[in-house]
Amino acid sequence: MTRGLARFHPAPRADWMEVMDSDWNDWKWQLKHRLTTLEDLESRLVLSSAERAGIRLSGTKLSLGITPHFFSLIDKKNPHCPIRKQVIPTIDESYVDPSEMLDPVGEDTTSPVPGLVHRYPDRVLLLVTDRCASYCRYCTRSRLVSGASGYDFHPELDRAIDYLKSHTEIRDVLLSGGDPLLLSDEKLDHLLGRLRAIPHLEFLRIGSRIPIFLPQRITPQLCGILKRHHPLWMSIHTNHPRELTTEVHQALGRLADSGIPLGNQSVLLQGVNDDVETMKELVQKLLFCRVRPYYLYQCDLIHGAKHLRSIVSKGLEIIEGLRGFTSGYAVPQFVIDAPGGGGKVPINPDYVIYKDEERVVFRNFQGKVFEYPEPSGSAVKPPNLSVPDYDVVSYS
Ligand SMILES: *Cc1c(COP(=O)(O)O)cnc(C)c1O
Ligand code: SF4
Repeated sequence: MTRGLARFHPAPRADWMEVMDSDWNDWKWQLKHRLTTLEDLESRLVLSSAERAGIRLSGTKLSLGITPHFFSLIDKKNPHCPIRKQVIPTIDESYVDPSEMLDPVGEDTTSPVPGLVHRYPDRVLLLVTDRCASYCRYCTRSRLVSGASGYDFHPELDRAIDYLKSHTEIRDVLLSGGDPLLLSDEKLDHLLGRLRAIPHLEFLRIGSRIPIFLPQRITPQLCGILKRHHPLWMSIHTNHPRELTTEVHQALGRLADSGIPLGNQSVLLQGVNDDVETMKELVQKLLFCRVRPYYLYQCDLIHGAKHLRSIVSKGLEIIEGLRGFTSGYAVPQFVIDAPGGGGKVPINPDYVIYKDEERVVFRNFQGKVFEYPEPSGSAVKPPNLSVPDYDVVSYS
């Protein structure tokens, strides 16, 4: 069984063998050489007609953009490659299910200032840019990221900062977008500094997929800037174990060495990661990279993502298949971001079989049934409540 470092491999540079290491390892080179057109893809990959049609349409919806680093992880021989599905458009995106929305989790309705979403009592989401290093075809913010759909995204940072200053109930700001790590070092430093100057803000965090799409961006200089603004946490976004390459492992190591606690958010995607074995490998590799799996999201009801959405019961099966079977630290919380704007709601497998004032009856990860007598109950009066029949073996 492969363990530890042996599970990590450098990104195969197949199409870019002639490129100098100093270029390949330069995040600006990676951004400049992103694959953004049909020709870029067609010269490197045999596309299906569904993909070709999807790529032609992407310019009016969500742009096509893939860093050479991430593209090189695609298994060209496999039309169902889990990396390919995440970033290469298909014509299925143009099919909109009646249940789907442009703003599936109702962000625009809880936005007091453009770019700022204040849904929960003590924390806000601050969208600082509409650009990403690569574009995920299931992005919940595809209405605004990449600028392709004509959505008028103009974050008003000065107004957002004024709002934060005057709302002393806010203690936690989550920078997202788009990808905040696409800002220059100077801009990021300045923004974090302005936030840090607000005394009631205790907790800053950055949501970014750049450590995965563009690990070269995690330079020692960037880490030096980030660590000046502690306590600063980071949530990365990775869905499949193959995304965790040697370069990514090293980039995450630099962030962790800078004292940045790291979490991961995954989106449950059909044919990408909706099985226990894939997710187990992912979460174990994440712990090895010092990243704590944080959330597993049921895919939002975003326009044109039906072909990528898995079913809720798969998510529950994954959580059941992890809990007890691997490190507790490796088990993320499965959530549905309530359609229309109710926020993230935990969705959990049922371990409790029966409960009343006297006792709780529950099963463990193996399906064995146990009983816990409540302190208030049995000592005061004898337990005489009838517990419904339950069958130990049937819960395996
Ligand atoms: C996800 C989210 C947050 C952060 O939620 P946590 O559960 O604290 O990670 C904050 N605001 C909005 C609008 C969000 O969608
Ligand atoms: S990196 Fe995040 S914001 Fe950007 S396209 Fe992917 S899911 Fe959307």
